[in-house]
Amino acid sequence: MSGEPTDGDGEMLKEAVSLLAHDIRVDILLALLDGWAGVHTEPRGYAELMRAVGIEDSGKFNYHLGRLRGVYVEKVEDGYVPTAAATALYRAVLAHRPTERTTRTGTVAGGCPNCGGTVAERYERSFLTVECTECEAWPGVTYSFPVNGLRGRTGGERLEALTTRASHHVGLAQTGQCPFCAGRVEVQFDPEVDWMRNGDVPPVELACDTCSWLVVVGVLTPLQHQPRVAAALTTVGAEPPLDDGFETTVDRDPEGPGRLVVEVQAEDGVTQVAVDDELTVRDVRVRAE
Ligand SMILES: [Zn+2]
Ligand SMILES: [Zn+2]
Repeated sequence: MSGEPTDGDGEMLKEAVSLLAHDIRVDILLALLDGWAGVHTEPRGYAELMRAVGIEDSGKFNYHLGRLRGVYVEKVEDGYVPTAAATALYRAVLAHRPTERTTRTGTVAGGCPNCGGTVAERYERSFLTVECTECEAWPGVTYSFPVNGLRGRTGGERLEALTTRASHHVGLAQTGQCPFCAGRVEVQFDPEVDWMRNGDVPPVELACDTCSWLVVVGVLTPLQHQPRVAAALTTVGAEPPLDDGFETTVDRDPEGPGRLVVEVQAEDGVTQVAVDDELTVRDVRVRAE
């Protein structure tokens, strides 16, 4: 963020974060979030909340509660409840534990989905990276993974949790919705990038227009979340989830200008998916072999 906010979001972010810069306000929020279980939790009454925060000066308490109201605290019939923004912030801090610095390196034996080889694991700046030490066919995964998710999981369980998480997020994003902020996701699939020369499969970029979420994945990763494509892949014996290393070729569609055909070669046949540059599926064909 720049020092001088230039748009509405900058001002809003600054105001929302600044509101929390007071011990009493933080104590009020933590008291409301203590034992909070969504809509099932009873609101906390004024006197009860004041007692929980441990303040005797009601003028002071009232002032700070008032500052939070409408942003992080809402008054309902029987007392006070945290807003969705308060619970989201609470969850973000518990997930990412920003005051703890965690880095990790290690290996997971037998973790490669392609060759069953040893997978190297690296955790830094909240990104978990896994890659095979024995083959090139599996491209591995780098994805943001809350540090909280490392706790209580073995290496193999972390690897599975990472790929499942990334896949679910991409599945939601390819419908046009950001998995974090519900904002609009732009899907970009550029047929003109390098891949035409080097023969690789072109990447797909999914980017949120609001919150900075962005991933670049192989074309099969988002496509297989579309029911028609998933059904066709299953027919030829390639049941999703398939990783980026699965045998895929991409060519221009001779029958549709500006379209591409993604072809997946599987055990029992071939699936062909015609898509446009926003990855909208135009046609799906299956050829049994
Ligand atoms: Zn491998
Ligand atoms: Zn977003």
